[in-house]
Amino acid sequence: MHDLVVRGGTIVDGTGRERFTGDVAIEGGRVVALGSVQGRGRREVDARGALVTPGWVDVHTHYDGQVTWDPLLTPSSWHGVTTLVMGNCGVGFAPVRPGSESFLIELMEGVEDIPGTALSEGIDFCWESFPEYLDALEGMPRVLDVAAQVPHCAIRAYVLGERAHDTELTSDEIDALARLTLDGLRAGAVGFSTSRTILHRSVHGLVPGTHSRPEELLAIGRAMGEAGHGVFEMVSDGVGSKEEMEWMRTFCRESGRALTFAIAQTAFDPTGWRRMLARADELVAQGERVVPQVPCRPTGMLFGLQCSLHPFITHPSYRAIANLPLAERVAKLRAPAFSAQLLAEEPQTHDRIARALMSNWAGVFPLGDPPDYEPPADLSVAATAAREGRRPEEVALDWLLAREGKELLFAPLANYVDCDFEALREMMLHPRTVLGLSDGGAHCGLICDASMPTYLLTHWARDRKRGARIPLETAVRLQTKNTADVWGFFDRGTLEVGKKGDLNVIDLDALALAAPEMVHDLPAGGRRLIQRARGYRATVCAGEVTFEDGEPTGARPGRLVRGGSRA
Ligand SMILES: [Zn+2]
Repeated sequence: MHDLVVRGGTIVDGTGRERFTGDVAIEGGRVVALGSVQGRGRREVDARGALVTPGWVDVHTHYDGQVTWDPLLTPSSWHGVTTLVMGNCGVGFAPVRPGSESFLIELMEGVEDIPGTALSEGIDFCWESFPEYLDALEGMPRVLDVAAQVPHCAIRAYVLGERAHDTELTSDEIDALARLTLDGLRAGAVGFSTSRTILHRSVHGLVPGTHSRPEELLAIGRAMGEAGHGVFEMVSDGVGSKEEMEWMRTFCRESGRALTFAIAQTAFDPTGWRRMLARADELVAQGERVVPQVPCRPTGMLFGLQCSLHPFITHPSYRAIANLPLAERVAKLRAPAFSAQLLAEEPQTHDRIARALMSNWAGVFPLGDPPDYEPPADLSVAATAAREGRRPEEVALDWLLAREGKELLFAPLANYVDCDFEALREMMLHPRTVLGLSDGGAHCGLICDASMPTYLLTHWARDRKRGARIPLETAVRLQTKNTADVWGFFDRGTLEVGKKGDLNVIDLDALALAAPEMVHDLPAGGRRLIQRARGYRATVCAGEVTFEDGEPTGARPGRLVRGGSRA
């Protein structure tokens, strides 16, 4: 008798091959039969009329803290993710010297907008080294598999202490960083990550490693080469520039490791992404493994009265009421005299980036319910204001006050220069790219993109009307085999005999995203944006049903995935 048989579903197996109807049998956590399965299962899942796909593999998340207190790892687990990779963008919580935990918390709070109080209360720092962190993770039961990368900021803080932000390092210090990377990888890290962007800041300024010199990065690369596994992940403003390409090329050559970096279409260089893809093609043609990372929708800032940012958040009148409960703020903002005063003011911030973000009216849209992440240009605040002969600020304020002040405005941060997804589609379908950047668990007050895997099916494979869709079989492959392969998870990512028994049973017709909402369920009452889904009939990890119709079953089959193991 099999442990589990998923019966009669439409199997989209993750390889990209055409869907077929059949059963999936799992035993001992692995797929043992596919097609027509005669034997019964101790447990049977009826998948008739539903899709059966591999579990989603999300390679870009920031659950490094949450993973230590939350066995459910929502929102990602609500969206069918069965394997996630943490420790991206250079931030994380190991290694850490006793007494300097707060520095790493401040970095995570600054870069990823995860409430520091939640992290302080939630994390029980029972480790010092990265290997000890992995051991701690291994001992905690959870619903899905997790894997971790060595964060550059943490090893810099560990080696350099107060000088964590320095760029001039001694060769001994560089050796120490390389040694910690090697130790982390040997213990089972699945990669190393760093940040080279001015967008990532904390109370201490740009994060450690932002301006690291090539000799430091190359030493880390050689350590990765010695370990023989692991992906180098980074977010860099310089990708595409000559200097950056130069060390990236040398890095790939000397380390032999895959290098993945975020690319995006930006307003100041709307076609730069094509150049970057062309450079990636060049490097790949020379035998290097470079993997540009792209999301399946624009990284979407959500402006709302409960969020970290909205167009009035620095206005003096708003600041005066900012700490009132939401209902009272809404009442004030609805009062004509108060709103007239507010609308007569200007944002009071000297932060040019924040100011530009908050008043880019042609790039702010109503998100709506169900949420629309590909809204046409004529729905923007600017277009609506022009049509109605009003000021954009009036329109934005009206929208923010809808649904008792819980309405969210969608302000795409990148990849939406032309107000549609054609650039994104080309990036997603480029043979060198990998899907990522959901930032699951992060940006709690401003962004909620952990739902990207669900959106890939609802929008790209099913609903898109403003341009071509992506065939279902391709969409599934992008979020399963493709992501799994880049990180070396060769035991999963497809539904084939011998692979891990991770899968989703999805009612594609019913599959839908709820509107994001703000909740206060983090430790210390910390807030976060969450987003739920409907239509996942079941999620299975290692042959155990972890979610049924969106509700956790109580099963905790998730494990730590260690890189380099030949499982
Ligand atoms: Zn990130």
